[in-house]
Amino acid sequence: MDKQQVMSAAESVLMHTYGRFPMVLDHGDGVYLYETDGTKYLDFAAGIAVFALGYGNQDYNNALKGQIDKLLHTSNYYYNEPALAAAQYVCKASGMDRVFFTNSGAEAVEGAIKVARKLYYNKHGKADSTIIAMDHSFHGRTLGAVSVTGKAAYREPFEPLIGGVLFAEYNNLDSVKALIDDRTAAIILETVQGEGGIHPAEKEFLQGVRKLCDEHGICMISDEIQCGMGRTGTMFAYEQYGILPDVVTMAKALGCGVPVGAFAARGEAALALVPGDHGSTYGGNPFVCKAVETVFELFKKQNVLGNVAEVAPYLWETLEKLREEFPVIVGHRGIGLMQGLQFSVPVGDIVKATMAEGCILIAAGADVIRFIPPLVITKAHVDEMANALRKAIRSVVNGK
Ligand SMILES: *Cc1c(COP(=O)(O)O)cnc(C)c1O
Repeated sequence: MDKQQVMSAAESVLMHTYGRFPMVLDHGDGVYLYETDGTKYLDFAAGIAVFALGYGNQDYNNALKGQIDKLLHTSNYYYNEPALAAAQYVCKASGMDRVFFTNSGAEAVEGAIKVARKLYYNKHGKADSTIIAMDHSFHGRTLGAVSVTGKAAYREPFEPLIGGVLFAEYNNLDSVKALIDDRTAAIILETVQGEGGIHPAEKEFLQGVRKLCDEHGICMISDEIQCGMGRTGTMFAYEQYGILPDVVTMAKALGCGVPVGAFAARGEAALALVPGDHGSTYGGNPFVCKAVETVFELFKKQNVLGNVAEVAPYLWETLEKLREEFPVIVGHRGIGLMQGLQFSVPVGDIVKATMAEGCILIAAGADVIRFIPPLVITKAHVDEMANALRKAIRSVVNGK
């Protein structure tokens, strides 16, 4: 089948939930992706912040192949060693006491919400609690996760959603304070908002939320599904703020390509769910947990955090130069290898033109281009991306 045939056949059997780019991807190698017709792309999206280790990592692939031949799935009625190793790595890195493995990010958010509601129920002897979430947040597409997502267009067609969710303004502590009362079970927020346009939390804001949660006995949930796993230069972004949440959600780069997420908790939150409260048939099976275990091993072996520390400032400088060069770029935000350029025009055509120049980028909202490459990129890759983007902006904005 040629490319066009694959695309049109796919359009007739897949639900139209995505505006897909006209690209049929076949294989990957390092930080490059190849189409079936051989077209090569530098990948600055990493499958939406998933493929931190790059494509075709032989250590990763071999570990997974070995596990496939041994045992893929057991259910959670029994123990398995990869799940133990993965859980130990997650708890140590996150500062949490216990973890539950899920199959996706949204499911991790569902679990975190259940922890907070159960905690409230245990403490107050009644349900009917509320959750404070943030404007412009993104927590996933299942009904619970979309209920706490701060974008009305994602919620409204699916209402009624789970009740008792109130939205505060991100980085505005007073707006959070104003919503707290004796029904508040949780405050959920991303440490760096991803889909909402790459907005890092301000230090005073995040520390202020932590303090409010301590004062009022509220469960603080940090959604680190996108900004966690080393993307900001530390394994979890909240480490840079000197705080620990009560519950943390992770997914995306946790398995670097296999579908796995997790919610982890500490203290009383780690003990809130008891047998009968929660479960998953696939969740934390030996195959995905082998992936998690291997990801943590390879982060260490390949000094991934060291690479982020080296390349991220260079990405910052490079994007600053573009900002100075093009007045249509009106903002630059982010931490580590999670950065965004804000444009004064919609970015869709610029993203497409950059792809035509051989580099995959993705947007975050209508007017922000998001830079979330594999964490193993080099400065030379940053230059290659910037050259493609520069040409694309020139052709789209300046019409040259
Ligand atoms: C991607 C994302 C999710 C949802 O993860 P899925 O695996 O797509 O369900 C939740 N929260 C944040 C911050 C995300 O970036």
